[in-house]
Amino acid sequence: MKVLKKPASVQWELTPVCNHDCIHCYNYWRNDKTPLKHPNIDYMKIAIAICKADPVHVVLTGGEPLLVFDRVFEAVNYMAEKGIFISWNTNAVMVTKDIAKSLRKWNATAFVSLPCGDSEICDKIVNVPNALEKIEKGIKTLLSESVPVSVNMVISAYNIDKIYETAKVAKKLGIKQFCLAPASRPFGADRAFDEMAPPADVVEIMCREAIRIEKELGLKVSLTGALPGCAFESEMFFQHFAYKKSCTAGKVSYAVDFEGNMKACARDNKTYGNLLKEEVSVIWSRMSEWRDGSLLPTDCKECTSLKICHGGCRLEACSSTGRRDGMDTFARKQLIPPSFKKEVPVYLWSEKTVFKVYSGLKWSKEEFGWRVSLGPRFTYVTDCTRKWLLNHRTFCLKEMENEFGLEIREVLKTTIHILVNSGIIHSDGTNINM
Ligand code: SF4
Ligand code: SF4
Repeated sequence: MKVLKKPASVQWELTPVCNHDCIHCYNYWRNDKTPLKHPNIDYMKIAIAICKADPVHVVLTGGEPLLVFDRVFEAVNYMAEKGIFISWNTNAVMVTKDIAKSLRKWNATAFVSLPCGDSEICDKIVNVPNALEKIEKGIKTLLSESVPVSVNMVISAYNIDKIYETAKVAKKLGIKQFCLAPASRPFGADRAFDEMAPPADVVEIMCREAIRIEKELGLKVSLTGALPGCAFESEMFFQHFAYKKSCTAGKVSYAVDFEGNMKACARDNKTYGNLLKEEVSVIWSRMSEWRDGSLLPTDCKECTSLKICHGGCRLEACSSTGRRDGMDTFARKQLIPPSFKKEVPVYLWSEKTVFKVYSGLKWSKEEFGWRVSLGPRFTYVTDCTRKWLLNHRTFCLKEMENEFGLEIREVLKTTIHILVNSGIIHSDGTNINM
């Protein structure tokens, strides 16, 4: 696979400390006997090292990142001024009007953990009293300052019957994007986790509820996490949800822990170097095991869907089997290889449909072409496509065919598709007069 020079996405864990104590938290340090402390670290130095490697998007996470909001303020401001898109993974409990205003100023978004719309169950999951009320208050404050908020519900045995009810609470708050993820066994989890582990058919249940929520409540629902293709038993659920996300760790993204150590993924406990001591690019080159297939189990290496599935989540596999090259927990042996084929997206436009190129695109050179981004969204294009986009504010397929030749029509259609899906160009459906 092509190795990026500049990983596009970063997850930065600002602190290990959290004001919630969720039993499903993947943070591997949660069973440490010594009380957790905020790091004694220069956040600005880390921000400078991250920016030097030119990412598109930095996700601030933790622990609860808002616990160190004041300490990290200048560093976040610096990243935002460099044009990096910022988002916060938070439980929203610490949100104040001033924090919400700062997020708005930075054009940042918030991804808020909403464990359950039932207050008793919510308290039980996060181990803190009156949690739901505080989360709701934080979400309302963010929305009142026009900060885009999506919520994430981690599904366990405790809340699996409350998915729809929780979506209703989210809708009432004004949320438009609702995400679902099955609870994963955290590294080093004790027996308390067995009691709340999701049932074996959790993927089917999430899919069913997701479709119901979309239909009846009009929310946009996605399944977070890289679920394997062989987790989907029904074709309808497969077509709707399979392969929407695949693992980006060590390929497109990396994580930085609260001491500046670089990891392939926030969920991992393996570090590859410290970005206060070495360049991101040097440490990135040590993560080749995430790119060369050596972490894949044999079943995946032989699977006909590998190119589109990429083998699910290696850390989900590791936390349940003890091996990074184990099978993902949600993979089902009897569904390998998946018998369904993903429907090819239909080209929705005519050859004269006008496409407009968004302004404010950012470009970054890679070995094999260019990364083009707008806000948090990005894709990779060839030198030729870049030249075309820079020289046209509007265009249609016919004009591209005239320039590049009718024989590559299908390639051009795919290029247009990718550019639309990545938010680089758009169309209102009008046709050009030629
Ligand atoms: S290792 Fe798992 S959690 Fe991390 S990015 Fe990959 S799929 Fe996601
Ligand atoms: S066997 Fe591996 S590659 Fe094939 S669908 Fe399952 S997880 Fe994906």
